[in-house]
Amino acid sequence: MPARDPAKRDWEDRIVVPVLYGFGVHLRYAFRVYPTRPQRQLLARTFGCVRTVYNDAVAARKSAHREGLPYPTTAELDKRLITAAKQTPERSWLAQVSTVPLQQALRDCHAAYKNFFDSLRGRRNGTKVGPPRFKRRSNTQTARYTRNGFRLKGNGRLSIAKVGDLKVAWSRELPVKPSSVTIVKTAAGRYYASFVVAVDDEADLLEPLAIPEAETGIDLGLKSFAVLRGGKTIASPKFFRAMERKLKKAQRALSRKRKGSANRAKARIAVAKIHEKTKAKRDDWLNKQVKIIIGENQAVYVEDLNVKGLSQGRIAKSVHDTAFGMFLARLESKAARAGRTFVKVDRFFPSTQLCSACGALTGPKGLDGLRVRQWSCGCGAEHDRDVNAEINIRREGERLVAEGHAET
Ligand SMILES: [Zn+2]
Repeated sequence: MPARDPAKRDWEDRIVVPVLYGFGVHLRYAFRVYPTRPQRQLLARTFGCVRTVYNDAVAARKSAHREGLPYPTTAELDKRLITAAKQTPERSWLAQVSTVPLQQALRDCHAAYKNFFDSLRGRRNGTKVGPPRFKRRSNTQTARYTRNGFRLKGNGRLSIAKVGDLKVAWSRELPVKPSSVTIVKTAAGRYYASFVVAVDDEADLLEPLAIPEAETGIDLGLKSFAVLRGGKTIASPKFFRAMERKLKKAQRALSRKRKGSANRAKARIAVAKIHEKTKAKRDDWLNKQVKIIIGENQAVYVEDLNVKGLSQGRIAKSVHDTAFGMFLARLESKAARAGRTFVKVDRFFPSTQLCSACGALTGPKGLDGLRVRQWSCGCGAEHDRDVNAEINIRREGERLVAEGHAET
């Protein structure tokens, strides 16, 4: 997505209560937690140590790069930046917190570099990933605990190593024992526990739909959020624009506050709260749409996002734009778990310009064409822009499947 900070992407987009989404055969469940004041202090210390170790790891890799040395491995960094560092006066305070989240910070740093290099070499789909950056205190804070760092207690409390027993607002049940938990503190000061749960591969599998009509293309747009088969539309929710307006207003208020003042800190929290609320509402809405589409269709064909093209229209706003990428990612994940076909059509496929009746490239083109809603082809066909695009995307998707180009 444009103008999105890749460093923020991980958490900022995922937090809702409860959130549930799949990656491979793993699901993530997030719940609000309410730490006591002393627990908040212990968590603040832990977040600080996690950030320090992460930043030290980035610094170590940067300096190795500058000096032309090989990148230090995670095991080397573990020895140097955790075990040895605890013996030094500058880093002795690392010993006050659990080692588990510190080791996870090194893993995160390693993963961030891997994503960056994969992206550089074109081995990674989606938007380009920048090099890992130093973490700052004002961002979302996280600490991840693997099984030896946390425990679920019979009384419903979540026990975290060297922090204590946290009160959790359980809004649904965890299907099996989680393999890890990440404690998150958002910019607005809310705390969450986000569990990763390995689930049965077939838990979400749906009965196959044997009717040929149960297939749809999806044309993402500006006028409506998406157009499905037969011109069925998913309207852009009104709250997208409403939240956008609220956000703008709060950001303007923030920009007027004096740097370092208490009012500025308050205004920053107000902005963060609107961000979080927006994400929660958007997540909820997206999950609903995805569920309906996957429930009703055996195969779903989408156009790979041309983010630039979409954001050039004046209607395009960040809430709306961001939602497209998330929508496709969830659709893909849900389709995989449900046993549905999901195919991405190449972004250069001219879905809008192609006349679905005769196959000529007679449709609206370029930036000016963005405004054209209806058009007619020389062959006599009259087209609604989005309905025509959906037909083309669906046919192209079906062709890819038939020719064995798409994995299903
Ligand atoms: Zn035509």
